[in-house]
Amino acid sequence: MHKIKKLLVANRGEISLRIMRTARQMGIKTVAVFSEADRNAPHVKFADEAVCLGPPPSNQSYLLSDRIIDACKKLKVDAIHPGYGFLSENAAFAKMVTEAGIIFIGPSPASIEVMGSKLAAKNAVSKYGIPMVPGTDEAISDIPAAKLKAVEIGYPILIKASAGGGGKGMRIVENEAEFEEQMQRAISEAQSAFGDGAVFIEKYITSPKHIEIQVLGDQKGNVVYLFERECSIQRRHQKVIEEAPSPVVSPEMRKAMGEAAVKVAKACDYFGAGTVEFIVDEKLDFYFLEMNTRLQVEHPVTEMITNKDLVKEQILIAEGLPLSFSQEDLKINGHAVEVRVYAEDPKNNFLPDIGNLQTYIRPHGPGIRVDDGFEQGMDIPIYYDPMIAKLIVHDESREKAIQKMINAIDDYQITGIETTLPFCKFVMEHAEFKSGRFDTKFVEKFFTPEMLQIKWTDKELELLAGLAVDVFDKKKESLKISQSQEDALSNRSNWKNRLI
Ligand code: ADP
Ligand code: ADP
Ligand code: MG
Repeated sequence: MHKIKKLLVANRGEISLRIMRTARQMGIKTVAVFSEADRNAPHVKFADEAVCLGPPPSNQSYLLSDRIIDACKKLKVDAIHPGYGFLSENAAFAKMVTEAGIIFIGPSPASIEVMGSKLAAKNAVSKYGIPMVPGTDEAISDIPAAKLKAVEIGYPILIKASAGGGGKGMRIVENEAEFEEQMQRAISEAQSAFGDGAVFIEKYITSPKHIEIQVLGDQKGNVVYLFERECSIQRRHQKVIEEAPSPVVSPEMRKAMGEAAVKVAKACDYFGAGTVEFIVDEKLDFYFLEMNTRLQVEHPVTEMITNKDLVKEQILIAEGLPLSFSQEDLKINGHAVEVRVYAEDPKNNFLPDIGNLQTYIRPHGPGIRVDDGFEQGMDIPIYYDPMIAKLIVHDESREKAIQKMINAIDDYQITGIETTLPFCKFVMEHAEFKSGRFDTKFVEKFFTPEMLQIKWTDKELELLAGLAVDVFDKKKESLKISQSQEDALSNRSNWKNRLI
């Protein structure tokens, strides 16, 4: 057992701040790292000490393992928390940290390595009777053989990069004619994006739900599950809204999924916090997708329903302590919903919309939590993930939590950039979301940008129409219009008189 006294968070933004808050509560000193673009960021101001890593691009700052480890040595840091993204799932980094005599807050490098490759992960868990999506279990080298396999699995199929992540590196193939071309593209994309051209095939489940299980394991081999998170509302295969518990998971299904997740964790001698992701089909059969060997973006919904601080648990596990609770001690309390506030324009295909946060006022109240890393007046840098905040609410039932979220979104004031908030409100108010039936196709099936246009009441429309006709009456002298247009419009004028 090694008590951590000083912790460096090798990350930025909301997650860096969130981790340091818990560390401070535990009496641990904090060190922030930052790039030149983040010099004035809240995570830098909050920390007891801060180290500049270099210029804004991540490969010249947040991804510089050597520089981060040097900073630890200089400042006598005894542990590193990697957050999510950046170096969090980099087995070589975890190894370097450990070899430098610093505690890595996460699982062993070996667990990261196995689970970092979707193919190796599937192989590791295959002995444990975990249901798996039909597909190939090796990297594809022989395209004609893979084509035969695809016929056997049945189209549509999904080509996935073994080293993929963040929703990237996936291609849907609808039929045999497209197969070869898509396969070639997938391989070269995987090679350039992840430095690893290994791809495999999975049956493409057309209307699935994404449901994942949070696990925690200590270094003595105890593993528990902290129930599920429903993460089916996605754009570009990436989550935007999450909730816990899932509205479709029964106590029996929860137990079956939880126990399967614990087996997955045990298959790679896992310790720390991790997430086992499953895809769930229309019959509510679930299949293993992958394991994320880190703290997940959406971990707060689990914290809200279990009353556990997952970062605190990660730190205690890294110090070598056994879990202080058992599976039976864990209970679900109420319902939590999270929306990710991205600097993206939902009216323009969710394209990043960076700029200056001219107004930034957070909602607050009982059961409302905002995890963010920005202040009013700050610029959103173009170099990093465009997520600016997470808005999380908790209440006693799903209905109440959804209503609380709608009110909190209304109270959240952001100007200067477009965000996903209006889209999130649209989802909260949608009958399909309220029913709990929705799947990962929600955005495709139910959302069009026009739905976010302002909805005028009939009275407002009448007034606007009247106004337009008034303007026309004043301007018509200067406008060249034909007699027939003139006639048509004078009819409109009568119509105006009837309305007002
Ligand atoms: P989560 O899996 O926690 O729900 P995301 O899938 O959105 O969250 O990923 C979390 C963060 O990690 C995001 O910033 C995402 O861009 C980044 N990320 C995840 N996997 C990779 C990867 N393989 N390469 C680069 N960035 C990644
Ligand atoms: P990543 O590492 O990018 O998170 P995942 O394997 O977790 O990759 O898949 C991300 C998302 O892609 C899932 O949440 C789901 O929406 C979709 N997806 C993945 N595999 C399948 C599949 N076999 N059928 C249908 N959708 C899938
Ligand atoms: Mg995933």
